[in-house]
Amino acid sequence: MSDHDTLQKFLFDGTDIRGEISSLADSYQAILAQQQYPDAVAALFGEFLVAASLLSATLKYPGIITIQATGAGPIKTIMTECTQGNKLRGIVRGDLDAAAGAKQLQDFLGSATLAITIEPEGGERYQGIVPLDADNLSQCLEHYFNQSEQLPTQIKLCADQRIASGMLIQQMPSSQQAEKIAADWQHVSLLMNSLKTDEQLSLPHSEQLFRLFHEDGVRLFEHQSLHFFCSCSRQRTERALISLGAPEIQSIVEEQGSVLITCEFCDEQYQFSDQDVEEMFGPQPPTLH
Ligand SMILES: [Zn+2]
Repeated sequence: MSDHDTLQKFLFDGTDIRGEISSLADSYQAILAQQQYPDAVAALFGEFLVAASLLSATLKYPGIITIQATGAGPIKTIMTECTQGNKLRGIVRGDLDAAAGAKQLQDFLGSATLAITIEPEGGERYQGIVPLDADNLSQCLEHYFNQSEQLPTQIKLCADQRIASGMLIQQMPSSQQAEKIAADWQHVSLLMNSLKTDEQLSLPHSEQLFRLFHEDGVRLFEHQSLHFFCSCSRQRTERALISLGAPEIQSIVEEQGSVLITCEFCDEQYQFSDQDVEEMFGPQPPTLH
């Protein structure tokens, strides 16, 4: 059975180390199909998508986690988000063709920052920002967890044109002896380091874990399915238009007859006629002479 497009948590008996493993195939392809991405850009985007799926498992309440890199290279923005209900979406902005030959993270994004934003439904937004100065996204995210959350974390992300795959382990706060905690962490993280990219891209989750940790009492939990889903709606688009203000929207209607908004995440189009716009902003005050 393929476990693509699922996220699974795992634990190690007798330790306070938790883990997650995730792989994307159909959901990844559905997101890539929204734009023409050069292979190298698609692979980097895949790492960001699978990272969002892994990080969504840290949400304790319904909400959204967003990973956003903002840079000064050919790529200006890579943004991916995943809800606690495992709905994924994302976008890459910039000169995609100019980034086609890039290899290192810095070739794509130049001098850049990485922001992790957690938005609980109806709760307060939390954002942590780290420089995007390591060789790859995995290391930048490890840096983020060590710095912002002070939780030792190891992450391995990879993607090709078909599949994006990721594994994360994290030392949770523990009441065990400090020496035991350190020894367990060193043992498990060394083993995880030996995981190879081709294994991540070809082996089912259970086989990846068996290959690494079969002597370590690893327990794999059930699959949670992941899918591409865009949270845009006519109502949200209308709210965005209202926030731009009546004069701007009315001038577009005068020029073009209506307002057409295309969602950059899913290509859905929302059209607002002059009548829709009038209803949005209410009747105009009569012109004074
Ligand atoms: Zn959309």
